[in-house]
Amino acid sequence: MAVRSPTSAHAADRLLTVDEALERILAGVAPLAPRNVPLLDAVGRTLAEDIVAARDIPPFRNSAMDGYAVRGADVARTPARLRVVGAIAAGGMPARAIGSGEAMRIMTGAPMPDGADTVVRVEDTDNGDQIVTVTAATPVGTSVRQAGEDMKRGTTVLTRGTTLRPAEIGLLASLGHPKPLVIARPRVAVLSTGDEVVDVAEEPGPGQIRDANRYSVGAAIWAAGCGPWLRPVVRDTPDDLRRALTDASEADAVVTSGGVSVGDHDWVKPVVSELGTIDLWAIAIRPGRPLAFGELRAGERRVPIFGLPGNPVSALLTFELFVRPALLKMSGRTKLHRPRVRARLVEDVDKPKGLRFFARGVYDEAAGTVRLTGPQGSGILRSMSLADCLIDLPEEGKRVDAGAAVTVILTERPEDH
Ligand code: AMP
Ligand code: MG
Repeated sequence: MAVRSPTSAHAADRLLTVDEALERILAGVAPLAPRNVPLLDAVGRTLAEDIVAARDIPPFRNSAMDGYAVRGADVARTPARLRVVGAIAAGGMPARAIGSGEAMRIMTGAPMPDGADTVVRVEDTDNGDQIVTVTAATPVGTSVRQAGEDMKRGTTVLTRGTTLRPAEIGLLASLGHPKPLVIARPRVAVLSTGDEVVDVAEEPGPGQIRDANRYSVGAAIWAAGCGPWLRPVVRDTPDDLRRALTDASEADAVVTSGGVSVGDHDWVKPVVSELGTIDLWAIAIRPGRPLAFGELRAGERRVPIFGLPGNPVSALLTFELFVRPALLKMSGRTKLHRPRVRARLVEDVDKPKGLRFFARGVYDEAAGTVRLTGPQGSGILRSMSLADCLIDLPEEGKRVDAGAAVTVILTERPEDH
């Protein structure tokens, strides 16, 4: 099939709003299939099964301290002298029950002997071997962990949809789940396009630049809990792009940068149209106006593809706004968006009229203010490096005055809605 020339691939006339574009993207992706993965690999994944405790945790009554297992009634008044009738270490079992006037040495985590209901800390005794003298009155039940006090057998302790953090990984380990069922980590192919683009280790020749986007976007993919799969730099020819995209379609999703404008060498739209479907949108946004979204066909599979603009700021910013929520949805997350707060702008900001402007900012939580990071050009990657937030300025107007209340997206924080 003949490839259409890029100049016929003009973007739609009407600008799409940021919200419309995001809505279409989110409607076009779905969570990946669940898989059983080794427990440690499950961190950050979305649990795809309910976890019911198959036993009590802790499984048996045990001591929370190194000391003596006793009857509380015997140590209500001190000093109290008790006969030491044995010792129990963690991992051992008590040889017998204790009776009135008796104590058993016990270590943290060791099962309580029958008859004992209290543990006296070794610090509150004379540490005696045959006879122990308890020097501090110890209320009944002190330093005893009850069976099932952490998790009761038969209760649902984790529900599907939970994002697994280190604490949940520990909980799954306690309950004996070496390979929990989770939504698989999306593997995302990352491509940079451009005849001028060379890899990081190369010395750029005349007219060439080093590739920033595969690394910045790859890092953002990693930070979103997905697996970046960096592919070689793609030349601005339909053949090279076709080959690269065919290989990349093994992944769960594909992210490209560059080649989505309407320049003479912008091949993403025509080539993806051959291999699947794609929409090239002009979005009412600065930076990052052109954005392509579609699907590659790979046999029975449909692989979402995101075509980001080539400018390094535009690429990373459109990733944050459009691709990251989509990858989180593919990861089974339901919270897809960063927290937003209102803050007072401390300087005047000029913005393009009719475009939603995402300025890179520094947020001062204590003062409730936000400032710009300096020059905001779409090639100025330092504007992002210095930033800890995005200032989300509405389409209307071409200037926002100092003192105005604005919306700030806290890009350093995890999703909260
Ligand atoms: P494009 O979207 O392909 O028209 O590229 C827009 C601008 O971004 C041009 O100045 C490109 O040289 C630059 N650019 C494209 N890809 C990259 C990249 N991977 N790293 C750094 N700059 C890039
Ligand atoms: Mg290009």
